[in-house]
Amino acid sequence: MSLEKLRQLGIDLPLFPTTSVGSFPKPDYLQKARADYAKNNISREELDAAGRKATEFWIRKQEELGVDVLVDGEMYRGDMVAYFAEHLEGFEEGGLVRSYGNRYYHKPIIRGEVRWENPVTVEWWKYAQSLTSKPVKGMLTGPYTIMDWSFNEKYPTRRDACLALAREIRKEVEALVKAGAKIIQIDEPASSVRPEELPLIVEAMRIVTAGLPAYFISHLCYGAFETIYPGMLELAVDNLDLEMSNSGLDLLELFKKHRYTKDISFGAVDVHSHVVEDQSVVQQRLRRALEVIPREAVWVDPDCGLKTRSVEEAIAKLNACVAAARALRN
Ligand SMILES: [Zn+2]
Repeated sequence: MSLEKLRQLGIDLPLFPTTSVGSFPKPDYLQKARADYAKNNISREELDAAGRKATEFWIRKQEELGVDVLVDGEMYRGDMVAYFAEHLEGFEEGGLVRSYGNRYYHKPIIRGEVRWENPVTVEWWKYAQSLTSKPVKGMLTGPYTIMDWSFNEKYPTRRDACLALAREIRKEVEALVKAGAKIIQIDEPASSVRPEELPLIVEAMRIVTAGLPAYFISHLCYGAFETIYPGMLELAVDNLDLEMSNSGLDLLELFKKHRYTKDISFGAVDVHSHVVEDQSVVQQRLRRALEVIPREAVWVDPDCGLKTRSVEEAIAKLNACVAAARALRN
């Protein structure tokens, strides 16, 4: 399976590689620095210094825990769509809207041609990768989700907006590849909101990843997967990163009916709960996955980003994933 593709890219991973979806909680000093920066009380350099310190903290933590494929923790991001909208041409910041739960964000507005002019994430990726010899994932928000979570005042159709974004996001992927990233994750959490648009998501992803020498992952978030499965297997990526634990592993029933054909980053701990799972619970979940999916295809990670958990909870949940993966290897 794709462990072979990784080997060809020069990355040797153990069975059941462990990773994270992307975000970690921001330490208090970084929360404060972000608030101070928003009020013009500190400079961009001071904010970035706090971001680097927090990134280093999480890289060290992941190494200590023994995670195999690291993430930078997204210390520089607020919202996953607004961050990219701020860094691409063609967007304006919109008013505050409420999204899931009690979270508010500035919904971006597409007012002009969307254009990638400079790398968005590459410097942070390079910094994170410079701190470790383990592979660090490149991480981007996908074109469909950026389109779906923005107002579109420029393009005649959602499809036009999405495909225009796909061509620009590809440039960021190319820049990451050029910088040396071998594992790149394109998040499409909006994937299951409008099942009739799955062909568009597939078309856009193909534009983003086609022909590029990297191992691609896509995180599809919460949602009604039953409405887009097995169609979502068409996505031009090697690995789908899926929330499994919060829904009681329901998806495995779908996988029994129609064979799952990609690698999977199997969400093995619930990120919405403060309760830290015992690693025996995590192992049980993984054993159930192994009844349906070949073991060479299974990666282990939390259901979703850990940014809403405390630093301590995030570490404990990651630790449970690593411990369970190690136990299974033996
Ligand atoms: Zn998610």
